[in-house]
Amino acid sequence: MDLKQYVAIVHDFPKKGIEFKDITPLMNDGEAFKYATEQIVEYAKEKDIDIVVGPEARGFIIGCPVAFALGVGFSPVRKEGKLPRETVKVEYGLEYGKDVLTIHKDAIKPGQKVLIIDDLLATGGTIDATIKLVEQLGGIVVGCAFLIELTYLNGREKLNGYDIKALMQY
Ligand code: IMP
Repeated sequence: MDLKQYVAIVHDFPKKGIEFKDITPLMNDGEAFKYATEQIVEYAKEKDIDIVVGPEARGFIIGCPVAFALGVGFSPVRKEGKLPRETVKVEYGLEYGKDVLTIHKDAIKPGQKVLIIDDLLATGGTIDATIKLVEQLGGIVVGCAFLIELTYLNGREKLNGYDIKALMQY
């Protein structure tokens, strides 16, 4: 299945010069969404995953059906102030300024094998911070899976040494 036909390219969103990849048409289509989920599940099957971790908000949308299919749990990574119990946090740089991502302190047990999932890999900043959170808790990142990789932003290089799977590349 050609998944790219289910990605809408939106010019100048959220600001001028950005070609935003909108995955909502893919989520809207039952067959395409199922196919994409199954492709990530296939990738994950060989890895003996204990838990899936995904950053808000689109990481939840892709991560949860994969976790369900694998029969493992899902742990959300969220912006600071959103998770109700004790968290660990990582600061990461954005184009202008910085942001903070958090995860519940008891979300991962030391030694658990973790699959990180998000909709899209751009510069890799979000996933780099997510990896740091998982590793702070003693988790082992055995793979990172995305629907889309923007190869020209070199996120894969930033995540050097980690196993990366992307279903579509631009
Ligand atoms: P990074 O941290 O630069 O790799 O950016 C990845 C994050 O930004 C992901 O959580 C994406 O959801 C979001 N993102 C960046 N560009 C796009 C896009 O074109 N479409 C959808 N999400 C995007």
